[in-house]
Amino acid sequence: MKRTLFLALFLTGFCAEGLAWADLAVGFGKADITPDVQKKAVWIAGYGHGRKATGVHDPLWTRAVVLEDGDRKIAMVAVDLVGLQRPTVQDIRAKLPDFQHVMVSSTHNHEGPDVIGLWGPAPTMTGVDPEYIALVVQRVVEAVRQAETSLKPARVEYGTADGTEIVDDSRKPVAKDGIMRILRFSSPGQNQATTPPLGILVQWNCHPESLGSKNTMITADFLHATVQQLEQTYHCPVAYFSGAIGGLMSNPGTWKLPDGRVVADGNFEYADAYGKDVANLAVKALGTLEPIELTPFVVSTRPVALKLENPVFKLMRAGGVMDRDGFAWTGDPYKTGEKLPSRSTKGEIAIESEVSYLRLGQLHVAAIPGELYPELVYGQFQEPADAGADFPDAALETPVVKILPGPKWLLFGLAADEVGYIIPRRQWDEKPPFAYGRPKAQYGEINSVGPNAAATLMNAFADCVKAAPPAKP
Ligand SMILES: [Zn+2]
Repeated sequence: MKRTLFLALFLTGFCAEGLAWADLAVGFGKADITPDVQKKAVWIAGYGHGRKATGVHDPLWTRAVVLEDGDRKIAMVAVDLVGLQRPTVQDIRAKLPDFQHVMVSSTHNHEGPDVIGLWGPAPTMTGVDPEYIALVVQRVVEAVRQAETSLKPARVEYGTADGTEIVDDSRKPVAKDGIMRILRFSSPGQNQATTPPLGILVQWNCHPESLGSKNTMITADFLHATVQQLEQTYHCPVAYFSGAIGGLMSNPGTWKLPDGRVVADGNFEYADAYGKDVANLAVKALGTLEPIELTPFVVSTRPVALKLENPVFKLMRAGGVMDRDGFAWTGDPYKTGEKLPSRSTKGEIAIESEVSYLRLGQLHVAAIPGELYPELVYGQFQEPADAGADFPDAALETPVVKILPGPKWLLFGLAADEVGYIIPRRQWDEKPPFAYGRPKAQYGEINSVGPNAAATLMNAFADCVKAAPPAKP
């Protein structure tokens, strides 16, 4: 919002106490990123390979929230995809050079096209269609520009609701982030009882995988129903983001419908019922709103090199299935080594990712590039670690809440990248004997870059917060 407009509002006696929030403007935009399943084969991501889409149940969207604090703009963007890779996010940023920061977070949809490469027609074939990736880049930019054209002066409120009971943790030990976090944006001076909000931002923590591994219809999964219900109830745009979903935060196996029947997951009836109850949780969060200032903006980002230790990921990269640049591992996560020839398997290999901290006025935003275990959010580590774990004496990582300098925050998972599970080192468990006396390892490590990724990313996040320049007065 321009200063002149603010002055005009002030002179008309519009909002004498609203000096801080009168400086903020917000805009919402969205664009359709549904692939054309008739034109060519679309391979659905998540679970095993070879799941060819046969139709579209509901469209996939990219939803953008643009914030402006007078002279700087930032964009927070969600995509209904399994996990956009950082090189694609960088392509998007290159087309939005006038933005101070563009945060693109994938919802981790398990019922949309492969954008990583792991889920093609065969294990040795990528499921990524470069033309589709180019379309996503173009549409995300369109959604951001649309949000920018709809910028309006805004006041903001922040709320939370506890939904611990509606998310499952499928891996021991049980640790969840069961808190939904919400921002509601409204026009300053408008009667909120009679005027719809400018928009609502929802952050919830559950794998969008309620349709399961047999479904072949493209869908945004349960959050299709969540967003639809909230948009219809509040007559405003809604943007949904996934938070800390590693570990593994999932839909309960069965769900009770409003008529009392109980349905098992793996079908649209379940997805719809669960999604609507997530919307009901959002209604609860909207009942706890408190005003919050989101200006000024401070953005602190750190690129990090992550050592690729996972032999399957290495193999997939070498085979061109996972087409991502590799760099020589320098031993220092803050020093990216020389770029390696494509498919090179020489020496220790790293990929480059990033962590960001956004301090938006009184709001603290953690942008983490993968599926963070909730243990790393709250520090709910098992003490002592199970003796069967591979590194029971490993140092504990510093969790997000200990790093964040304030109580009001959002956490965006799969932000700017998807590097897989971010697992506390003490829980790493690939070698026998296995933790909890299990006959085999728990699921998780196969989709992680390695046991050191959590410490590297948490340290980098702490460094981002430390390095955040003081807020502009
Ligand atoms: Zn996952």
